[in-house]
Amino acid sequence: MQEKSRKPENSKSQPKTQDSNQAELHEAFVDTQNNCPLCATELVIEVDIGDNEFTLKEQAKCPACDLVARVKDHGLH
Ligand SMILES: [Zn+2]
Repeated sequence: MQEKSRKPENSKSQPKTQDSNQAELHEAFVDTQNNCPLCATELVIEVDIGDNEFTLKEQAKCPACDLVARVKDHGLH
C-alpha cells in the first residue's frame, strides 16, 4: 500500500480568471440594484442627511412608480 502525499506545487500558476469573474459578478449586482424590480426603470439614487449629521440615508427610488427600492443608513463615526 503506497500513499503519496502530493502537494499542489503549481498553485501560483493558476489562470487569472478570478479578476474577470469578480468584475462580472459586480456588474450584475450593480445592474439589479439600479433598476426597479417592478418596471425595470433605472432607479434614482438619493442621498440625504439623516436625523443628525452623522447619518447618511441612501435611497434608490423608481421615478416611474415611486417605489423606494432600498434605503441604506450609513453611520459616520
Ligand atoms: Zn418602477
